[in-house]
Amino acid sequence: MKLYQHIFICIILLIGTGLYAQNGKYALVIHGGAGNIRPENLQAEVATSYEAKLKEVLRLGDSILCAGGTSFDAVEACIRMMEDCPLFNAGKGAVFNAEGKNEMDASVMDGKTGLAGAVAGVTTIKNPISAARSVMEKSQHVMLSGKGAEIFAASQGLEIVAQDYFFTRERWNDYLKARQKADSLELIDKKHGTVGCVALDKYGNLAAGTSTGGMTMKKYGRIGDSPIIGAGTYADNNTCAVSATGHGEFFIRNVVAYDISALMKYKGLSLLDATNEVIMKKLKSQGGNGGVIAVDKNGNIAMTFNTAGMFRGYVKAGGEMKVALFSDN
Ligand code: ASP
Repeated sequence: MKLYQHIFICIILLIGTGLYAQNGKYALVIHGGAGNIRPENLQAEVATSYEAKLKEVLRLGDSILCAGGTSFDAVEACIRMMEDCPLFNAGKGAVFNAEGKNEMDASVMDGKTGLAGAVAGVTTIKNPISAARSVMEKSQHVMLSGKGAEIFAASQGLEIVAQDYFFTRERWNDYLKARQKADSLELIDKKHGTVGCVALDKYGNLAAGTSTGGMTMKKYGRIGDSPIIGAGTYADNNTCAVSATGHGEFFIRNVVAYDISALMKYKGLSLLDATNEVIMKKLKSQGGNGGVIAVDKNGNIAMTFNTAGMFRGYVKAGGEMKVALFSDN
């Protein structure tokens, strides 16, 4: 065999091996909020509805990634499905603020390009996660808020709905109860419900997204961690993709999602060690309740929370799938 033929075969083999390595692996993780989620706080049939919905979302994510879709597309699609489901505190089913209104926040980040988009305090966009994506892809900005975000979303052809679309009796009752309490945070700890998704696709690209109605009884105009890149959402192909849920003020002050990525990047921590360090040690010592889902560039996943439970699940290439609600399963 001539030298050039030898080199040609080597190149083909190298490309083939590279493609195979990238094509084999994908993983997707979702959360539907963390909080005081215990078997005694959740009726069995309600728990079953959460499990069924989480599985449906994972099946959707799996079908996208398995067919060669991107992690970014999978994250958006999975979050949209949860936004459309009244079980979660995002899109339809969002909690009410102190004025009895739904104000929603969402963000996405693409680990390949480092680009990100977010919307905050929006009240009429049916799927805030898609608005966040549009901000990233179609504007020169990272975050748009309130009216401006809504005008922009409408200009991009996104669905705009009347504010009462987001109303659910369950969240309204939570609001009425919270109004009676001096410290409404007590109730908030029982009911998070923010949604998030992180994914690694067959091409080795990571993406993260988070969407929320925020916290019941929040002040008008309050913005949580979910739309803040680095706090509630972060993705970097060199480290990991993270989506957070919990008491947002703590997540903002501790730049939680970025901190996890930074621990991996600068200190060489594993994904699990990094999420434990931030959620179980740092945040917990401050009384910051909540958790994160994360996936790293090798497809390792973490679902770490310091609350009694977190609605969560994952799916990996080959069909391995699991959903869980409480801390002990
Ligand atoms: N992190 C969200 C916020 O503070 C709430 C949640 O995750 O339930 O707005």
